[in-house]
Amino acid sequence: MFEAIDKAFVLPTYGRNYVNFVRAKGARIYDSEGKEYIDFTSGIGVVSVGHSNDRVNGAICDQISRITHISNLYLIEPQAKLAKRLAELSGYDMRTFFANSGAEANEGAIKIARKYGEENGEIKRYKIITLKNSFHGRTISTLKATGQEKMHNYFGPFPDGFVYAESINEIESLLDEKTVAVMIELVQGEGGVEPMQKAQVQALERVLKARDILLIVDEVQTGIYRTGRCFASNLYEISPDIITSAKGLGGGVPIGAVMTRLKDIFSPGDHGSTYGGNYLVTRASLEVLAILEGEEQSGALEKRINAFQAKLDRLAEDYPQLIQKRVGIGLMLGLRICDADMLSRIVDRAFEAGVLVLKAGRNTLRFLPPLTISDAEMEEGFEKINRVFVALS
Ligand SMILES: *Cc1c(COP(=O)(O)O)cnc(C)c1O
Repeated sequence: MFEAIDKAFVLPTYGRNYVNFVRAKGARIYDSEGKEYIDFTSGIGVVSVGHSNDRVNGAICDQISRITHISNLYLIEPQAKLAKRLAELSGYDMRTFFANSGAEANEGAIKIARKYGEENGEIKRYKIITLKNSFHGRTISTLKATGQEKMHNYFGPFPDGFVYAESINEIESLLDEKTVAVMIELVQGEGGVEPMQKAQVQALERVLKARDILLIVDEVQTGIYRTGRCFASNLYEISPDIITSAKGLGGGVPIGAVMTRLKDIFSPGDHGSTYGGNYLVTRASLEVLAILEGEEQSGALEKRINAFQAKLDRLAEDYPQLIQKRVGIGLMLGLRICDADMLSRIVDRAFEAGVLVLKAGRNTLRFLPPLTISDAEMEEGFEKINRVFVALS
């Protein structure tokens, strides 16, 4: 019934599965028939502290009973606190602008870079270099920033100034006097769970610093403890000029953030968002950060990462005819599957068996479990996945 309503009234931008999920807790999620699934997707890396987290729910309920929204024309206490926490937990001396999504955070990053390019240097600089296999969002500018050709089929004309590099190593040869920034993901998510090499990223950082070109790291997927550290930039031991985040930050409420060490780049009027960083979302995010900071400091997050990776390694060992290798960092993980057809069959069978998994790139089975997933939830999910591989091998 709801499938018919959806098909009649919602624009079909997704190849949708018409299961009707009605409630969820932790990594467990239930459909309208009462069937239980283990969620190894976290809603694409969003419910970082699990579904319906008691602490986040408590913070949200408390906040909505007080005040939800007042606009950015006034002080928003949890917004100020969240910006401070992001600086403290990341260790980066930065200020933050709050948006409502990953794409919008990246739009903010592009605007910061463009303004920097207007104000610094002999001539106006505006070019931003990104990678061919990147994903940066769906707005007109972030779509153009996304290097994948297939994303540029319609919707033009696009803004000028995006240049695509085949790899990190190719970036240096593309820099010219009009280049103002380079934007990269440290682990490409949509592109197929593809981590960059640390030494190459650090070498790039040195080249850019020497030429006063900004390094923007798109941490919309990698950020907020997904790789085991607050940001993947911490893990790679780099100091970007701009970092964007979104997905895991709100634990399910829509929030994006662009952080920069260029603390005075914007003046009132340069940028804005009506909803951005309102009481509801920033209060929820503060609780998400408090939970995840605890998980990192207690060592629980690292234990979970090791356990999850070991289980994927075991699968790769047991089914070499189906799995080429395990890829990824932290709890942003994947299995390279022998071919794209088999990948689709695995995702469908896993759903039938009661475990949710994702595709990425051409042939990667992607795992983005809640960062707080319990041993029992992990165990159950892998039992189900294992049955799928037994049946298909
Ligand atoms: C998901 C994602 C985005 C886009 O985020 P939205 O919230 O969907 O706009 C941008 N960059 C990366 C790396 C992402 O993974």
